[in-house]
Amino acid sequence: MDADFWLARWREGRTHFHQDRVTPLLEKFWPPLGVPAGSRVLVPLCGKSLDMLWLARQGWRVLGVEISPLAVEQFYAEHGLQPRRRRSALGEHYEADGIEIVCGDIFGLDAATLASCTGVFDRAALVALPHGMRGPYVRHVYGQLGAGWRGVLITLDYPQAEMDGPPFSVDDAQVQALYAGHGQAELAYRRDVLDKEPKFQKGGVSRLDTLVYRLQGPG
Ligand code: SAH
Repeated sequence: MDADFWLARWREGRTHFHQDRVTPLLEKFWPPLGVPAGSRVLVPLCGKSLDMLWLARQGWRVLGVEISPLAVEQFYAEHGLQPRRRRSALGEHYEADGIEIVCGDIFGLDAATLASCTGVFDRAALVALPHGMRGPYVRHVYGQLGAGWRGVLITLDYPQAEMDGPPFSVDDAQVQALYAGHGQAELAYRRDVLDKEPKFQKGGVSRLDTLVYRLQGPG
């Protein structure tokens, strides 16, 4: 799952992971976290998610990171926003209405930028990465967020042998192993969603749960 894989998905419009609405589980689980309004919230592997609009409208400053320029341009265009643009070593930055998106590789995000974020919303990001990339991703991103950070993580749990990802299955044991040493991952919600996911049904998956975690950094 390198950059070319994702760039091709966006070019060919194979972006079924995109939802035309705000993730209801974000609206339910984000407010009780108590992330102070005005603080910066990282949305890694953000695509053109409407969740960024919701966070910004509730008063948080959003920092999305997305490798596909098509996704970033569609995000602003589809919401009638005209972003300011600038280049840095991280990539091309777009910014409008409290939503900044860096068009670049999440692994290229520098320590200072990560440390400026005290909130994180991870949907279809951790589960988009194959097994070998998840450990480095969690270490790089979650290991460098600002002190006292909090977040919401949404994963999927299904028998991986029955279908290949992405999205990959990241079950509770994997989440606990990944986040050990980077804070606490508290399983807040689990729901069987197989009847809402025809793609998984057609793929022959016998069980599919969505899991929501409250994340809290150390200290
Ligand atoms: N979170 C979004 C998109 C999920 S799909 C949503 O909920 O809709 C995963 C996204 O991550 C894709 O848009 C893909 O282009 C992007 N991506 C994949 N690898 C990346 C990387 N290394 N750095 C930044 N973005 C990446």
